[in-house]
Amino acid sequence: MSIMSRCVEKSETAFARANKVLVGGVNSPVRAFAAIGGGSTGLPEISPPLIAKAVGAYVTDIDDNTYIDYVGSYGPAILGHAPQHVVTAINKQVLRGTSYGAPTEIETHLAEAIATAVGSIEKVRFVSSGTEAAMTAVRLARGTTGRDKIIKCIGCYHGHVDSLLVSAGSGVATLSTPSGPGVPDGTVADTLLVPYNDLRAAETAFTQADGQIAAMIIEPVAGNMGTVPPAEGYLTGLRDLCDRHGSLLILDEVMSGFRVARGGAQSLYAVRPDLTILGKIIGGGLPVGAVGGPGEIMDNLAPQGRIYQAGTLSGNPVAMAAGLVTLQALGAEGFYEQLEAKSATLERGLVQAATDAGLGGKVCFNRVGSMLCCFFTPGPVTNYATASAGNTKAFAAYFQAMLNNGVYLPPSPFETFFISAAHSDNDIADTLAVAKLAFAEAVKLM
Ligand code: PLP
Repeated sequence: MSIMSRCVEKSETAFARANKVLVGGVNSPVRAFAAIGGGSTGLPEISPPLIAKAVGAYVTDIDDNTYIDYVGSYGPAILGHAPQHVVTAINKQVLRGTSYGAPTEIETHLAEAIATAVGSIEKVRFVSSGTEAAMTAVRLARGTTGRDKIIKCIGCYHGHVDSLLVSAGSGVATLSTPSGPGVPDGTVADTLLVPYNDLRAAETAFTQADGQIAAMIIEPVAGNMGTVPPAEGYLTGLRDLCDRHGSLLILDEVMSGFRVARGGAQSLYAVRPDLTILGKIIGGGLPVGAVGGPGEIMDNLAPQGRIYQAGTLSGNPVAMAAGLVTLQALGAEGFYEQLEAKSATLERGLVQAATDAGLGGKVCFNRVGSMLCCFFTPGPVTNYATASAGNTKAFAAYFQAMLNNGVYLPPSPFETFFISAAHSDNDIADTLAVAKLAFAEAVKLM
């Protein structure tokens, strides 16, 4: 196998056309491939393949290149793309109508499936995205506690909610500044930032703002600074801090929920949140988000309580149908054990391929279940600062070589690779053969 040149003509033409009517040619920034070519990387500009279809472990672009896909729609595609039973459920529901703006039985069925799997959840409010779920959870925490301040971790992403879209300062509990124009200072004035995996910093923040913290919100397994697992005792330590200070603990399991375990990261690390945010997998590839928790907190939402929240397409029946069959499939005996085994094989092979390419001690890998990441830094990567130490040029070279040889990774060093049930042993072996070449390209830039 050698570095090949893909046919990209149709994608390039289509992307140029898209740029005339879509901002940056995309509807979510990372898809524009800004981080992995051109500019300061010194590598060739590369434009994104426009995807024509996705089935199983593969995506195919409009130039007819097929790739082994580790983006998995950024998490939802845990069963692979277009699994037959999900497609059937969607088709069946579509024939009965796509949206009613009225209650349905299937919303209850999906909520029951979630509450059965995730121990801390008794009641659910469905929304249409993870962002909306995070926004709702923060409002619910503030309304429930009567407090305004929120603690969030540097490098954790909770969607583009104004109050959570804050850049990191270093050090302990820095008062936040907005991460870009359009987010007023006042909107983030009540958001305190702490480094991930630093219990002492969290304790200082809680102490300094004693009696004012509505909630600490955190990704229990961080997936938006690459993959970063929680240190031992970190999450239970946060639980304890929240209890001592009368604050709520919000676990953002939009990515980790039903991904690292059926009961989410909270079951893996034995921590009980007050509120859980879900998204991605629970929609089976359609737009769904959710907030869940005990009835005594959830019932503060309208119409039961006074905290307002609503949505025209919330609980959309097509999305509920896709989510329900997806969660049913995840309940199959041995599902997570098999996913763990193939993810471990991929990780072991990548470590070996990197070592063979002369990158031993220069790269590090983090993995929790089927969330995996390669950092071009010796590591260990435990927070945003250590994740940011990665060599972005080397990542770009690695990414480009993988893509050119048929392996589609997330186009940013701060994104997680997702392994699905559809990835076969052959897919993993093919990926590793390509990774050898890609690491050999990366090592030239380290
Ligand atoms: N929370 C986490 C942990 C996420 O990873 C994301 C998206 O990647 C979100 C929230 C926002 O979800 P959405 O993109 O559906 O708005």
